[in-house]
Amino acid sequence: MAKVSAKMNALIASRYWETTPLTQMDEAQWEAICDGCAKCCLHKFIDDDVEEAHFTDTAKGEEEMFFTDIVCQFLHTKTCQCTEYENRTELVPHCVKLTQANLPEIFYMPPSCSYRRLHEGKALASWHPLLNGGKAHKMHAEGMSVRNKIVSELDVNMDEFEERIVTWPLNELD
Ligand code: SF4
Ligand code: SF4
Repeated sequence: MAKVSAKMNALIASRYWETTPLTQMDEAQWEAICDGCAKCCLHKFIDDDVEEAHFTDTAKGEEEMFFTDIVCQFLHTKTCQCTEYENRTELVPHCVKLTQANLPEIFYMPPSCSYRRLHEGKALASWHPLLNGGKAHKMHAEGMSVRNKIVSELDVNMDEFEERIVTWPLNELD
């Protein structure tokens, strides 16, 4: 099991997320907000007309978003980590890279996304690694990540995406 770094322990001890707005976080603080759930690596679809659901990486606020259990081929299905993190936006043009600049578009993210929660004025969820010694097992154990629920985009017929719509990515615990 990976050891939590001294830098991460210092971040955890500081509880910076309670006092520092997202827009003022430094890179290490910003990166540590990501809970690692990998729900943002699921294929999702916008439906402004049920008969005309279409694949997208963009949405207008009034449109309804559906998540599927189909995941990007570059996600490690056990660790829920990206295997191509440095090259992700070149390899996958629709890969969403959240930044301080695109926070207003955060509605692409699931409600439990920790950036979205902070942006909406909520606290971090109880299962967040920052509240659990830097470890992700509570998140996985509580079913808040994609682990054990997904299928790779390489193993499904993408024309049948509507049959793979799921609601669990919308769940929140607290
Ligand atoms: S949904 Fe948000 S918190 Fe979860 S992995 Fe994606 S960016 Fe990180
Ligand atoms: S490239 Fe990586 S971060 Fe982007 S969607 Fe795929 S697995 Fe997720």
